[in-house]
Amino acid sequence: MRIFDPHIHMTSRTTDDYERMAAAGVRAVVEPAFWLGQPRTSAASFTDYFDSLIGWEPFRAGQFGVRHFATIALNPKEANDPRCRPVLDLLPRYLDKDAVVAVGEIGYDSMTPEEDEAFAAQLALAVAYDLPALVHTPHRDKARGCERTLAVVAESGIDAGRVVVDHLNEVTVKLVRDSGCWLGFSIYPDTKMTPQRMVELLREYGTDRMLVNSAADWGRSDPLLTRATGEAMLAAGFSDDDVDTVLWRNPVEFYGQSGRLDLSDLDVSAAVDPQTGNSILRGGS
Ligand SMILES: [Zn+2]
Repeated sequence: MRIFDPHIHMTSRTTDDYERMAAAGVRAVVEPAFWLGQPRTSAASFTDYFDSLIGWEPFRAGQFGVRHFATIALNPKEANDPRCRPVLDLLPRYLDKDAVVAVGEIGYDSMTPEEDEAFAAQLALAVAYDLPALVHTPHRDKARGCERTLAVVAESGIDAGRVVVDHLNEVTVKLVRDSGCWLGFSIYPDTKMTPQRMVELLREYGTDRMLVNSAADWGRSDPLLTRATGEAMLAAGFSDDDVDTVLWRNPVEFYGQSGRLDLSDLDVSAAVDPQTGNSILRGGS
């Protein structure tokens, strides 16, 4: 099983995680810029963070055979802090970099006017830099948040096929599917989605435009839930090819739209299943 985790915050994870992920078949990740928990007090603090997302973290990932890409943005939560607004002016410098494969995470946290403004401005940047966009949806009031998100996306003029709307569940899946955007699902230990619920959604809606991520970060989360979802799919009768579509080919297709997803020389044949000792990966990238 080869796995591309299209949304994971490795900055908050340890080398043990990288080791376990590599052993489980994770060969590539996208790390979106996000809220670090501790509020930042100036734009300069973001400069160091963004530099680390395109410098230090890819280096760290590379030591474990994992290819690391980033998405860059002012996150929805900190868009509300006037001290962080100047981050919007820093973004063009980063959106030019090869390691940056999308604008994100953008979108809504509490749906304030400040978030409206930052969201629209960053969708315009995605259009201007010809990049896909990764859109976070609020954890509270999900249906309304999702509707408003899709309205802003439509208004921005960005091609729906270049947008992933993330953190979806049974309540929001259909709305996003009908919009033409890609659908992101974060599989969590005890909130958001579980592998079993994800399998049910794949049964109902198919594998097209479906992305599964662990969204692992500094909270209670698990970077191996992508693999667990692949296994749950197989147990439910999905084929190896279906699993490869969801866990590898879909994220490659989505972020490949950036023109910057370099997966050459990636070793996708050497991983060994920690339980059986058998090779768990097949084929090239
Ligand atoms: Zn995230």
